[in-house]
Amino acid sequence: MAKKKRIVIALGGNALGNTLPEQMKAVKITAKAIVDLIEEGCEVVVAHGNGPQVGMVNNAMIALTHEDKAQPNTPLSVCVAMSQAYIGYDLQNALQEELLNRGITNIPVATMITQVRVDADDPAFQAPSKPIGKFVDYKQAAQMERDFSYIMKEDAGRGYRRVVASPKPVEIIEIGTIRNMVESGDLVIACGGGGIPVIRQGNHLKGASAVIDKDFASCLLAKELDADFLIILTAVEKVALHYGTPEETWLDNVSVAEANQYIKEGHFAPGSMLPKVQAAVSFASSKPGRTALITLLENSRDAIQGKTGTTFHL
Ligand code: ADP
Ligand code: MG
Repeated sequence: MAKKKRIVIALGGNALGNTLPEQMKAVKITAKAIVDLIEEGCEVVVAHGNGPQVGMVNNAMIALTHEDKAQPNTPLSVCVAMSQAYIGYDLQNALQEELLNRGITNIPVATMITQVRVDADDPAFQAPSKPIGKFVDYKQAAQMERDFSYIMKEDAGRGYRRVVASPKPVEIIEIGTIRNMVESGDLVIACGGGGIPVIRQGNHLKGASAVIDKDFASCLLAKELDADFLIILTAVEKVALHYGTPEETWLDNVSVAEANQYIKEGHFAPGSMLPKVQAAVSFASSKPGRTALITLLENSRDAIQGKTGTTFHL
């Protein structure tokens, strides 16, 4: 029997929704798309983002400090851990239910709470760039800077938001356990929200005040698991050159060399498409035979058959 294709799927914001009820609904659609791939004979590992959810948890924990002065503010690493468990809970139940609905009873589903080591010297710590949480006015922003030592930045005329560092993932702490689970046939959800960022201090892992980009964390996970495919599911069917302009051109097949050239030419927006293309290039160039794909969630089945999406190869 041919070896099953191993796929790491990175779920974007549209696979999870923005609120609790939205997430409940979204994961059902997401689970269908993932189980479609399992029915195609693929071995799937799921990773996901946490932008809205970590903002929500962070806001709730700030509200707690207002309500009860004895409560200190919650570290961002703990907020990431909470978001990871909450999303994993909804996703694993939706996946298990969808598998059972299709009569697949031999695939256990589990979420691995995953820590990802970052480098304390990562330059990202000196230049926080990732906005999280709700918009506040100037006065509230100044108050939050004073109370919690947050860095608050004006965001495109819409008000102020907290910005946090987004360092590169270096090591997945629980990779051994994740690999064992995957090898024994479990459907594993790992590296949620890019993983809980930690810094190694001897035997101690210290939570870092950061949010790791899920596209980069998924790329590292795919390399570590020696996956055949990294599939980044997002809100567009394909990646475009001259995106949103009259010269817009959708890409089908891109070599690593071409993609690097397009990156240089500035075709991909930082913070949205750029990290995806960088992650795709990094995975596709890491070993011959590794393919990365960027497409819409509902098109994943067609995409692995080469019918749609943007494919990256050596
Ligand atoms: P996710 O939550 O899946 O990470 P993002 O919003 O961060 O999604 O990134 C996907 C978005 O990137 C698309 O919806 C699109 O608006 C935007 N984008 C920016 N540049 C491009 C491009 N060159 N081609 C396609 N989409 C692009
Ligand atoms: Mg994103």
